[in-house]
Amino acid sequence: MDYNPKWAGGSNDPTCTSCQRPITSDQRSKRIDFTNDPHGYRGLSGLYHVECSKPFDSLANAINMMSLGHF
Ligand SMILES: [Zn+2]
Repeated sequence: MDYNPKWAGGSNDPTCTSCQRPITSDQRSKRIDFTNDPHGYRGLSGLYHVECSKPFDSLANAINMMSLGHF
């Protein structure tokens, strides 16, 4: 698994890419991959809270479709 390596600081919880808060084990999370950010360097690809992921989910779909040459 390649989560963002931001979770130094004593906690093993991964950090939400959107709100930068830890995603605790009782919170639902969602991994979103952007084809223009395969390694998360732009701060797009990564793990999100499900609630935080929604706007990024549709954004990722749009970007991923564009990069597949459907336009
Ligand atoms: Zn979040």
